[in-house]
Amino acid sequence: MSTSRSVSGKSAVSGIFSTGRGSDPGYRAPHLPAGAGAPDGIFAQMQTMGHEQLLLSHDPSCGYSGIVAIHDTTLGPALGGTRFWQYGSTEEAITDALRLSRGMTYKSAVAGINLGGGKSVIIGDNRRADREALFRAHGRFIETLGGRYITAEDIGTSPADMEYIKLETDHVAGLLGLSGDPSPVTAYGVYVGMKAAAKVRWGSDTLAGKTVAIQGCGKVAGHLATYLHAEGAKLIVTDIDVEKMKRVVTETGAKAVAPDAIYDQPADVYAPCALGATVNDDTLPRLKVQIIAGGANNQLAEDRHGDELEQRGILYAPDYVINGGGVINVYGELHHWPVERAQKKAGEIYDTLLRIFDIAKQERIPTYRAADRLAEQRITAVGGLDRMWMGR
Ligand code: NAD
Repeated sequence: MSTSRSVSGKSAVSGIFSTGRGSDPGYRAPHLPAGAGAPDGIFAQMQTMGHEQLLLSHDPSCGYSGIVAIHDTTLGPALGGTRFWQYGSTEEAITDALRLSRGMTYKSAVAGINLGGGKSVIIGDNRRADREALFRAHGRFIETLGGRYITAEDIGTSPADMEYIKLETDHVAGLLGLSGDPSPVTAYGVYVGMKAAAKVRWGSDTLAGKTVAIQGCGKVAGHLATYLHAEGAKLIVTDIDVEKMKRVVTETGAKAVAPDAIYDQPADVYAPCALGATVNDDTLPRLKVQIIAGGANNQLAEDRHGDELEQRGILYAPDYVINGGGVINVYGELHHWPVERAQKKAGEIYDTLLRIFDIAKQERIPTYRAADRLAEQRITAVGGLDRMWMGR
């Protein structure tokens, strides 16, 4: 995601750390007299990134140290998972929460759902066995926000941890027995998104006869491979887990290659479905594909790699757009949608990507920047509605 973008610029509520203005282009912090609280450090970071609020909480009785970052709530309550991670420092944890919460604002905005962006982190060893008090402490912290922030699973947390949070607050999704594993909906979104890219690149959205190199044979990749195989695509797959790879090979007749060889395959599409940052200085010259469309988060090591894809004529389906099925699934759970409705909504990723590819073409910008623009347009448009007083 590119840096220094505006979102709503609306006023923020008060918080432990809160800023009153996003990073609108052209916006300059008003001149403040020395000592009057000119932003620096964390406040400057929040202002640059456009955050509303950053909160810290701790409970020594159970060794809990938690952070909630709320980026932008123009479209609705801030949603984003709880990451449980042993950060090197509190500053590192704060930076991660700020970065991830901002990403959620953009992801939900382009997915066309009414959620803002937030994220929380618990600092500590996520292999810890005694989890009840820890996650209940986190749930209590979330409850104090009165619904401004809704959490879900993320790295280091599980549906069972969400059940502990649920004992303290209703503002939690991804519960056992509700929407469940989001990967089938995510994979469906990736599949239709890949078809949209095919339509733009080759004039037809059929993937029959095309070769797709899939990195990872996990949950998203497994469902994606099934869709592609059913349509008649040829598959090349890899995984560091040989058993998972064998399963996909058996089910789809895919050709298996070594993990590092996936970048060198002659293929039409590269579908990263394992790790982030696999589009980087090392892999870019090796990729012979015409499209990159996959489920992984943060596929570009840096924004400049998105620029380079553009220069090399590789059509990139921006990661947070094409993998938006996961957040759509959570939204569906919050609104008691049947899974078919979430899947149908994820199907809209096809048209959203066509719009993004069109913006990129019209404005001569890389697709990842066009995605940001579409997200910002929606937030600005909806934020503008606030001008009319509705008596509530
Ligand atoms: P998963 O853990 O089920 O699958 C990931 C797979 O990648 C595993 O099988 C793992 O062995 C494999 N892997 C790890 N390192 C590898 C390497 N170097 N080379 C090849 N394979 C490697 O995870 P998932 O739920 O399928 O998610 C895949 C990606 O999609 C992740 O980046 C995730 O953040 C993202 N994503 C998932 C969802 C969802 O709904 N599950 C939603 C949005 C984004």
